[in-house]
Amino acid sequence: MMRRHWMPLLLGLMLAVGCSVATRATPTLTLGLPIDCTLGQDCFVLLYPDRDPGPDAVDFGCGRMTYDGHKGTDFAIPDDKAMAKGVTVKAAAAGTVLRTRNNIRDRRLQDPSQTTEVEGTECGNGVVIDHGQNWQTQYCHLRQGSVSVQPGDKVTEGTPLGLVGNSGKASFPHVHLSVRYQEQVVDPFVGPEAQTGCQTPQNPLWKSTLPYQPTGLIRSGFATQLPELDQLWDGDFKEKTLSVDSPAIVFWVHTYGMLQGDQERLQLRDPKGKTVANLNRPMSEPQRVWTRSVGKKKTTPSLMPGRWSGRYQLLREGKALIDHEQTVTLK
Ligand SMILES: [Zn+2]
Repeated sequence: MMRRHWMPLLLGLMLAVGCSVATRATPTLTLGLPIDCTLGQDCFVLLYPDRDPGPDAVDFGCGRMTYDGHKGTDFAIPDDKAMAKGVTVKAAAAGTVLRTRNNIRDRRLQDPSQTTEVEGTECGNGVVIDHGQNWQTQYCHLRQGSVSVQPGDKVTEGTPLGLVGNSGKASFPHVHLSVRYQEQVVDPFVGPEAQTGCQTPQNPLWKSTLPYQPTGLIRSGFATQLPELDQLWDGDFKEKTLSVDSPAIVFWVHTYGMLQGDQERLQLRDPKGKTVANLNRPMSEPQRVWTRSVGKKKTTPSLMPGRWSGRYQLLREGKALIDHEQTVTLK
């Protein structure tokens, strides 16, 4: 009598199990910003995860602000002087610290050949956090000696982990955030279970939407010589006043995400408002980070005292992506 009831019962159980497996969604992780700054003002997303499965590289916005095999999101700060002041790296979500490293020196790589010197320690000083349900986040390139958590520590979203640095494979000061689910890289702008490429539905992990800003201004200023990109990452040329006896006055910009054909306009005006130097030039090739300047050499015994101004415009297909003005006082 009892046996006759087993079969339908078993079948029912199997169906129930099968059904629940088929509809179980990936548990999601919600992320806050991993860095204490205001995006677009004193920090910038410079590189996104690479979504191209082959040797090419594409970011989630179908742009080129990534490189082949880049597994995370790079939140950059303007220069090494900002880094020296200290910018906090924060836990993006609650969890338990799994691993840390804290003894790698900070050195900005200036040449691709230097990458062999950081082999095996590409992440530099870093922290890995386990968020449960097979989710992990990793934070890289922290400042030497700044890591302030230990394996086993419980963290909540926003817990300070250390400071932004230049350790490991870093060519500018930033924190690289990698997100993994079941040991697979997840692009936090797209979410888990997404197809490769950039034309894919997006289900971002960010708690509040992060705008896609693949082009922007990092910093601008005035110098008494033509600045090199490397000097800008160093944090040079921040002076608010310059001497009238300087050999020249140069207005410079440090930008990112330049595309071929972008039109750059720079203008330098003296204290009387007269344009003394200008430049109007299209980009001949794309550049991930870029600097452009315009200047005037001292021809008379001294440069005109007073307030000089510089204006920078970046136009793409006739539309101004950047329109920025800055002044400096000459004494
Ligand atoms: Zn990175």
